[in-house]
Amino acid sequence: MATKEFLVIGLGRFGGGLAETLVGMGHDVLGVDADPKPVQEFSGLLTHVVEADSTSEAAMRQLGAGEFGTAVVAIGTDLEASILTTSVLADLGVARIVAKAVTEAHGRILQRVGAHRVVFPERDMGIRVGHSLAGSIMDYFQLDPGFALVETRAPKEIVGKTLADAEVRKRYGITVVCIKPQGGSFTYATPDTVVQDGDVLVVAGETRRAEAFGELPS
Ligand code: ATP
Repeated sequence: MATKEFLVIGLGRFGGGLAETLVGMGHDVLGVDADPKPVQEFSGLLTHVVEADSTSEAAMRQLGAGEFGTAVVAIGTDLEASILTTSVLADLGVARIVAKAVTEAHGRILQRVGAHRVVFPERDMGIRVGHSLAGSIMDYFQLDPGFALVETRAPKEIVGKTLADAEVRKRYGITVVCIKPQGGSFTYATPDTVVQDGDVLVVAGETRRAEAFGELPS
């Protein structure tokens, strides 16, 4: 049974940001890095920080790696270290292993050696930023290959109408989740919400329909 919370291996930009986020949310995080520099940089910011080579099964055993509920392998550049570390953690019985991959092939290998979830931060950020450059889209979040959340400026053609009158579901195949007036904060959208010029909308829908809505002129 897992008795410890999060083990984060590799305190680079991805691992470091992830570890600090978990601590900020009130979780216990043990950070591990083979390089003394990030170890020093993160000591005091995380619950514990240890300098160790995560490819060594003996070192990981000594840190009690097998007792963690979740381990994140945040090593990208050194493929060998990323794969060996994932396999060591799987052998030690970590309940949930999340590993960062730089390519699809790297991701497949990580899954083969025991990662329960593989993330592709560079690719995913490229997809997000790419979408944010098209039309009126400000941000983009893919929930599934076929379903997305899009943050976008209110399209001109529905300004001045309520969401019910604009028939957004029927005409555009999307659902407006929440809406933010200029200078205001987000609130839930209702059928009576009147769309104003300059409003920001978060919409959910099939990827191609949510994208098409975000590309309407604002
Ligand atoms: P990022 O983009 O997140 O900054 P990256 O993809 O360039 O990182 P790397 O630089 O390969 O990834 O690794 C991130 C961290 O992992 C580095 O701080 C590095 O010292 C650490 N690391 C690499 N190999 C090992 C290892 N065998 N054991 C522990 N830590 C390691």
